[in-house]
Amino acid sequence: MPGGSCAVALAAVADRPAERLQSLTGMRDVLWPESARRRELVDRFVGTASAAGYREVVPPLLEDLRVFLRVGEATDVVTKEMYEFTDRDGTRVALRPELTAGVVRAFVQHRPLTPWKVFYTGSNFRHERPQKGRYRSFDQVGIEAIGSDDADLDVEVIALAWRFFEDIGLTEVQLLLNTLGEHDDRARYTEAVRGHLGAHRDSLSEAARTTLERNPLRVLDSRRPEDRAAVATAPTIAEFLSPAASQHFARVKEGLEALGIPYTIDERLVRGLDYYRRTTFEFAAMALDAAQNAIGGGGRYDGLAESMGGKPTDGIGFALGVDRMLLAADAESVFEAPEAHLDAFVVDLTGGAAARDITHELRAAGISADRRFDPGSMKSQMKAADRSGAGHAVIVGEDELAAGEVTVRVLRGHSDTAGESVQERVRRQDLVAHLQQRR
Ligand code: AMP
Repeated sequence: MPGGSCAVALAAVADRPAERLQSLTGMRDVLWPESARRRELVDRFVGTASAAGYREVVPPLLEDLRVFLRVGEATDVVTKEMYEFTDRDGTRVALRPELTAGVVRAFVQHRPLTPWKVFYTGSNFRHERPQKGRYRSFDQVGIEAIGSDDADLDVEVIALAWRFFEDIGLTEVQLLLNTLGEHDDRARYTEAVRGHLGAHRDSLSEAARTTLERNPLRVLDSRRPEDRAAVATAPTIAEFLSPAASQHFARVKEGLEALGIPYTIDERLVRGLDYYRRTTFEFAAMALDAAQNAIGGGGRYDGLAESMGGKPTDGIGFALGVDRMLLAADAESVFEAPEAHLDAFVVDLTGGAAARDITHELRAAGISADRRFDPGSMKSQMKAADRSGAGHAVIVGEDELAAGEVTVRVLRGHSDTAGESVQERVRRQDLVAHLQQRR
């Protein structure tokens, strides 16, 4: 944006009373305790991916617009929903609407050893019509494995997501599986679908008619009632698969069966972006409304590195929607927010200096601690201690101060006698050791 228009805008608001500002449509603030739940979900994902040999990659939020144009010129995500603009230096850029394209761009740029197994976590931006489970800024976690076309890698990738769902307690998840064949298979199939849908053009919804021009396979995804009949009679990919593609798919299915991962073949599953080849899959949370029940998806994208100027390289990956997984967890009543916890809350009745010093000392020793500022009465400080989730209150009154001691009161988790709080006097220099022992 030119600096001038910003200055004009600033001048215009300068002499008006400030209006209470709000987050933008489709953008949300996530406050605690929901934020703790998200953090826990993401941390668990990092644990699952790391334990399978995936290492973190952190691509930028902003990319050269061409990175996304290469992957989906015929998709809504790229043509209608992208936050794109011209940067101050004239470069056309976009906020990432998804992460695979940036990761593959990074692969082409840095040429790491293959197979390159990476995971990521972070926000994406799509200018969609917001509704529950569909936002303009949303988080994903995902993995990409680049540099191998082994069908067992497809199985590993799908199994990782499956194990993650189990780990967070989701049980009502359906794995939908399909193959789009090799590049030429997909091209021939696309033409067959275009012909078929073209013949039924008059019965299609207006949206489907527009999509048909640009990306006929996307019409197969349509959930509009008008489109159902034409979609139901459309040719299926199975008739167009080359022997190599069929073999690959058979090996993927065999692997999933060997690992005990149930799947449902869904021949209409073509996924939104253009770059998918061979295996595609999606995870549907059965506890959510059908319209917004995709909690993640992915597939193979054997032509993507090449389209970014690299050598032809195979790759496969998935992205899971953090927001959607949490909604699914709500619907299944699993994965509750972790409780707040602190080792100690310092209650200072002597003016605040003791609380200042003791919290500092405890934190330096690795003991989690908090206190209240603007010191109030014993009652209000104890209330704050309780709310903080602390296991102990460390109380400093005039008595304790004079004696070089503190009172440690057990608030939760350690009470020796049911229901009653237990307290004891501890010498100030023994406090760290005392609390460490009680953890
Ligand atoms: P996609 O690349 O569109 O398949 O997205 C992968 C996953 O990200 C989906 O299965 C959803 O769980 C999630 N997702 C996609 N778009 C949004 C959105 N606008 N708001 C929230 N989650 C989304």
